[in-house]
Amino acid sequence: MTSYNWSLLCSECPATADAAGLPTVCPDCGAPWLVSYDSLPSPEVKSTYGTRQWSMWRYRDWMPLAEGEPPVSLGEGATPMISAPAFAKEYGLATLWIKDEALNATGSFKARGMSAAVTRAAAAGAKAFSTPTAGNAGVALSAYGGRAGVPVKVFAPRWTPNTILTQIVTFGADLELIDGHIGDCGKVARVYAAENEAFDVSTLREPYRIEGKKTMGLEVAEALGWQFPDSLIYPTGGGTGLIGMWKVFKELREAGWVNGDLPRLYSVQSEGCAPVVKAFEAGAKKTEPWENAETVAWGLRVPAPLGGSLCLRALEETKGAAVAVSDEAATACAEKIAKTVSVDASPEGGATLAALEKLVDAGHIGKSDKVVLFNTGAGWLYR
Ligand SMILES: *Cc1c(COP(=O)(O)O)cnc(C)c1O
Repeated sequence: MTSYNWSLLCSECPATADAAGLPTVCPDCGAPWLVSYDSLPSPEVKSTYGTRQWSMWRYRDWMPLAEGEPPVSLGEGATPMISAPAFAKEYGLATLWIKDEALNATGSFKARGMSAAVTRAAAAGAKAFSTPTAGNAGVALSAYGGRAGVPVKVFAPRWTPNTILTQIVTFGADLELIDGHIGDCGKVARVYAAENEAFDVSTLREPYRIEGKKTMGLEVAEALGWQFPDSLIYPTGGGTGLIGMWKVFKELREAGWVNGDLPRLYSVQSEGCAPVVKAFEAGAKKTEPWENAETVAWGLRVPAPLGGSLCLRALEETKGAAVAVSDEAATACAEKIAKTVSVDASPEGGATLAALEKLVDAGHIGKSDKVVLFNTGAGWLYR
């Protein structure tokens, strides 16, 4: 299997960098780096997928991995797209799938990003990892850091659901509880990382979690016979998944694997923390920090996402939109998904169905649409 060299391009300014060492953010402007490959796989490579193993690393030629290099992996990815004909009928859609990311190792799609980030950082010689988390990133880092034999320190809000905190400790991380939200954890984590020479793998403070999340987009396209669906609804916190899928859909088109319009990307956030929705509705290019963020959808409690402007670009370029839903609607829809489709949805997953109702009502999503909702994490983690 071929692998391609890559370098880093700043997402906001003209800066570039080579990918050696432990890259963080652009030193000139502080914006996230995006990975740029010297070349992309040719469409003939499609025919080799039949013999590849079922993990996200089946797409290793789209990923930052050297020839023959073993990734730090727990078999993440290869999650099912579960059809939900009852919902398709109810909302008058051609087809509706729920991509069940709860079936990843560690119970959420954070596994994908951490597998890629830990692979690169461990290879570059990181001696310790740290991260602030709203919950699931901490579980994933604990597991993947452990797998790489690198110690992990996690900073989580004190009121994070108990099952998530227990999982963080189960995989061996040193857990510190903070009075505050993920932004407050981030401040403490960055001081800790600087003082302890730990590598901070917070969302978009290193470039490889996005590359891992790209594999969701590759899986969706492959499941549809290398075609795009019409629209995707994605619960947006830090925005890694949204940005990753936007990036890979463009790469797939550039490489001639898939033709046609990019899928419309729709962000759903919680009414109690909706910086991307607010900026989208105002036609702004940047998000503003959200005061007093509060939501039961822990993964969406990100008041000041570093990738806010990238999220807005992804929505605009794909002709998508952003909607906010209430905690009550997200929770009720999570239950509806569990009872109707037998997928144990998290509140974030429930939020995508609540958003679908709004987007259908507003005429954004129409009758002939093929739609994919993302259940980004397992409901049981919140109980
Ligand atoms: C982290 C998380 C999100 C938000 O993901 P981003 O890619 O950072 O926007 C959504 N749902 C769950 C369950 C999460 O853990």
